[in-house]
Amino acid sequence: MPEKERTNKKHTTPIVQSKGQLAIILSKIKGFNEAKVSLEQYQTDSEVAASVLWNAFLSGDLQNKKIVDLGSGTGILGLGTMLLGASELVFVEIDKTASETCKNNFSALKSECSGDFLASFRTEDVSDTTGVFDVAIMNPPFGTKKEHADRVFLQKAIELAPVVYSFHKASTFGFVQAFAKDNGFKITHHWQFLFPLKQTMKHHTKKIQRINVVCVRLEKQRNSNHC
Ligand code: SAH
Repeated sequence: MPEKERTNKKHTTPIVQSKGQLAIILSKIKGFNEAKVSLEQYQTDSEVAASVLWNAFLSGDLQNKKIVDLGSGTGILGLGTMLLGASELVFVEIDKTASETCKNNFSALKSECSGDFLASFRTEDVSDTTGVFDVAIMNPPFGTKKEHADRVFLQKAIELAPVVYSFHKASTFGFVQAFAKDNGFKITHHWQFLFPLKQTMKHHTKKIQRINVVCVRLEKQRNSNHC
């Protein structure tokens, strides 16, 4: 059973008032204790997260919305949507340790910001996730360790929500475009980043590596017969 954390009323008003303020708060959340290579555990950089989330907020995709954070890790994306007025959050993470950190980050933010947040935490494989959401947000494994891991996440995301924000390796943008088209979704926006991967894993040699990443916003098309 998912563990629930409830407060009396739903939070609908953004706690933060600017992208910069959001980035500062997100930069303070606790990261992975020991990042697991097999699960491609890379925490999204706080500036990158704030940039995408701020755009999502301005597009009207967060306030009063029910959001699912797939492969939530330590929670940076979902927590950010919470600070921007999401009404309900579901964090999905396969790794128990990361899920615990996410819960702790949630509790810390909740007390610090004295917000009325509604969140639940599911320690499960995304393949098993069910529900109906307004928006799915994710920085999934890019599929470098487990082939097609990104496809599994995309498939699940479009099953759960009509709007999806998803990070991918820029070199796979063509695949994401084709996936969207084949499934009755459209890429309405995309943003490119040089993604800093801090040296959290043993195989990283340089202090900070950078890879080209694209974040896409997918939206289900009205006349689509798919899904
Ligand atoms: N969303 C976080 C973490 C990104 S790393 C952030 O943006 O910082 C990808 C996360 O997906 C990791 O925490 C990893 O443990 C999780 N993950 C990998 N495979 C998964 C699966 N099949 N189901 C659920 N979570 C998974």
